[in-house]
Amino acid sequence: ESILTFDHVTKRYGNGVCALKDVSLSVRPGEFISIIGPSGSGKSTLLRSINKLISTTEGNIFFDGENVSALRGGKLRKNRSKIGMIFQNYNLVYNLSVLQNVLHGRLGHMSGIRGILGLYPEADKEKAWTLLEEMGLEKFGYNKAGNLSGGQKQRVGIARAIIQDPKILLCDEPIASLDPSSAKVIMDLLKSTAQKRGIPCLVNLHQVDVAMRYSTRIIGLHAGEIVFDGEPESLSDSV
Ligand code: ADP
Ligand code: ADP
Repeated sequence: ESILTFDHVTKRYGNGVCALKDVSLSVRPGEFISIIGPSGSGKSTLLRSINKLISTTEGNIFFDGENVSALRGGKLRKNRSKIGMIFQNYNLVYNLSVLQNVLHGRLGHMSGIRGILGLYPEADKEKAWTLLEEMGLEKFGYNKAGNLSGGQKQRVGIARAIIQDPKILLCDEPIASLDPSSAKVIMDLLKSTAQKRGIPCLVNLHQVDVAMRYSTRIIGLHAGEIVFDGEPESLSDSV
């Protein structure tokens, strides 16, 4: 059974650029998939079309039993709440504490006023602290997120994505702003937290060696087309 399916998906932007061309793929539980390809090959367009941050031109995307292309309003928000996102530049609220940033993920779009007033349910707070421990950040819970190192910020990003028990994790260049040793910590944590919970991961990467090392499957994109889809071992045979 697949949690996510692209069925002949094409994306043409307003300027005529065709960022995805007839893309078909299925994602199954437990997979750790790297999407690799040069800059401009369509990796972020692919990830962003899953939560409908961009809408596609042709074809259908099915996620958790729903046709994403048809979702609007409350149904779209519900769908997005099942997706954990991790960004290259972390997208944390730097004035808020580490703990508040993690809780922000739990409350999703409703976080604003409850968060400001500190009205987080006790169960959510406990869950947030447990996740911070898992990320090795329990000492930093009350620190401002803006004062952390890059690697620590991304660990907050992982905790924030995981706290909502997502059905998939979408990671857009999660290590592109990190030095090699922090990058390794982040990839190890991403893989272990996801595998432990059975959450499939789609990770945009431009480092082929990292993709080879961590992935159960690699998808290669070139100019919007899938040019490779298989196990890391068979990629090394084909290059
Ligand atoms: P759409 O065609 O999906 O409506 P827009 O043209 O409104 O997208 O652009 C959305 C965002 O992407 C804007 O912030 C814009 O500056 C940025 N953008 C526009 N053209 C490009 C491009 N060629 N590459 C990357 N980003 C772009
Ligand atoms: P990657 O993530 O692999 O770098 P992108 O998905 O960002 O690739 O971009 C794929 C192609 O679509 C590129 O040619 C890029 O310039 C173009 N593109 C991306 N976003 C926009 C946009 N909002 N408007 C117009 N063109 C865009």
